[in-house]
Amino acid sequence: MKHKDALDILQTIYGYDRFRPQQARIIDSVIDGNDVLVLMPTGGGKSLCYQVPSLVREGTGIVVSPLIALMQDQVDALNALNLNAAFINSSMSAQQIAQTEQALIDGDLDLLYVAPERLLMDSMLALLDQCKLALFAIDEAHCVSQWGHDFRREYMGLHVLHTRFPTVPRIALTATADQRTRDEIVSNLKLEDAARYISSFDRPNIRYAIHEAGNAKDAMLQFLDDNHPGDAGIVYCLSRKKVEDIAQWLVKQGRKAVPYHAGLSAEMRQEHQSRFLREDGVIVVATIAFGMGIDKPDVRFVAHLNLPKSIEAYYQETGRAGRDGLPANAWMSYGLQDVINLRSMMQESDADEEHKRVEHHKLEAMLGLAELSTCRRQSLLEYFDDELPKPCGNCDNCLNPPSTWDATEAAQKALSCVYRTGQRFGVNYLIDVLVGKEAERIKSFGHDKQSTFGIGADRSATEWRALYRQLIAKGLLSVDMGGHGSLTLTELARPILRGERDLQLRKISNATGGAKKKKRAQAEHIAQADRPLWEKLRALRASLSDGKPAYLVFNDSTLVDMLEQRPTTHEQMASVSGVGKHKLEKYGDAFIDLIREFDMFADCDASDEVPDDASADTRDNQLADTTR
Ligand code: ADP
Ligand code: ZN
Repeated sequence: MKHKDALDILQTIYGYDRFRPQQARIIDSVIDGNDVLVLMPTGGGKSLCYQVPSLVREGTGIVVSPLIALMQDQVDALNALNLNAAFINSSMSAQQIAQTEQALIDGDLDLLYVAPERLLMDSMLALLDQCKLALFAIDEAHCVSQWGHDFRREYMGLHVLHTRFPTVPRIALTATADQRTRDEIVSNLKLEDAARYISSFDRPNIRYAIHEAGNAKDAMLQFLDDNHPGDAGIVYCLSRKKVEDIAQWLVKQGRKAVPYHAGLSAEMRQEHQSRFLREDGVIVVATIAFGMGIDKPDVRFVAHLNLPKSIEAYYQETGRAGRDGLPANAWMSYGLQDVINLRSMMQESDADEEHKRVEHHKLEAMLGLAELSTCRRQSLLEYFDDELPKPCGNCDNCLNPPSTWDATEAAQKALSCVYRTGQRFGVNYLIDVLVGKEAERIKSFGHDKQSTFGIGADRSATEWRALYRQLIAKGLLSVDMGGHGSLTLTELARPILRGERDLQLRKISNATGGAKKKKRAQAEHIAQADRPLWEKLRALRASLSDGKPAYLVFNDSTLVDMLEQRPTTHEQMASVSGVGKHKLEKYGDAFIDLIREFDMFADCDASDEVPDDASADTRDNQLADTTR
């Protein structure tokens, strides 16, 4: 690292020992006044890449951020470090805006957050002309790309920063960027001359698992009970109705769950989001409307109850888990209906042919990932032109390698049933014919007289459903929505029917099997013996948080480090990761007292007592723990 003052800031203000390797290079480059493009996965530490140079360089760092609703949290986090940060947005009164603008002109601000539409207003640009500027940071830079899925028109105007403020360095940051998005960021923001820093997209602390739905709800509950009895997480569903249903159902199961979708009022959404950020252990059940810009570091799981439309979406959504680097789960359950819905949604969409082709391609890749029998992470990274030389050891397929079976004969039966019934029927009907169900409808078409009637009686309806799903996923059958989901054969089906090719398929495991076998205690990173102190640290943190998100006091990884180091002096406390000068002064004593007291009484079985000051949350967790 070239700039030693940057390292000094990291250690005294943030309380971290060293920069991550990529951070050091980026920060040096921005301090030197260069434009840079940063691609780094969620949790990689992008914020420091612009915050630290803003502090080292003279003037204010201007941060462009797309979501007004979340600026408050970002600014709170900086204020908690005793830095001068503020935002300007439309939620403020004219007087508040004027005050903040004055602070900016006076050079009192280290960092200022603004939304792009505000930044690009003539009055704002004129104001910036009068100020000393350290840099422009363009966060969530993929919003400038029409190819990506978060396109925001306002981002398109940001290239003026280059012409209007040619000497102010710009740093564009994103966690999503395949090659095409990357190219669009560069050209739309005029970053042709920027240095590019591209990190590996791997998120090694996230455990990926994708299951075939049997009963998806039960499977999820089992997964939550085994792995996350009191943890915060996100459950993604496709429709608003399903979001409501699942949220209610989780509440009935004794969970703190709230719904979030675009059909709720803005106040309700805001309230649910802020409960998720502020309280411990809240589960948000949401459509894809939820999540962008959520910086909550301790989301311990992301569950999908439907198949996402693309690997980009899947990776971005699952990426919201485990920002703090501690173990987290990405769990998904999907079934035949998902495949049918997505396929037909695509066919029916009014998009132009080019766009449809792209969407089709993306869905195929997602299905491929879901049906994969080898390492999920290797395949994910490969999709992003990244690579992992060896299987990861931390995905379902690595942990419980699925077996494959020769499905040729069964596939022939399933496919010929489609053919013989005239390629006019949906899956349920076809299965009824295969298993030889005595149904009026089948008789009325005369299908009970056909050779395929009852030839599949050796398998259950569930097994046939899974097989049909796999055949659709592999493109041997296509779904026609005009005909209410009727299945038709594709070219690929022919060689199988003729016996010219055989077909190996992934064996269907039961959906909870994997999760059950690998049972993990709540928050695996906390040893059982450490849990009483862990709960006390969390309760103390909550009591000091003053109505703001508790992680602003100290985040989970800082508490984990305290648990390991058991600091009982200021000096020891200062060496805990994430304890900087300001937080040491503000909270150090309270935590030191707690740890001292705890260790003193450690011999007298502290594990049974509930701390006096335990918040209701913590008590709930403990109850959940013991009644399980
Ligand atoms: P991103 O914006 O890339 O998702 P953040 O900037 O939110 O990531 O950082 C993720 C977490 O990693 C935060 O809790 C942050 O404090 C922590 N972090 C970042 N850089 C370092 C570092 N050099 N040492 C220790 N922790 C770090
Ligand atoms: Zn793996």
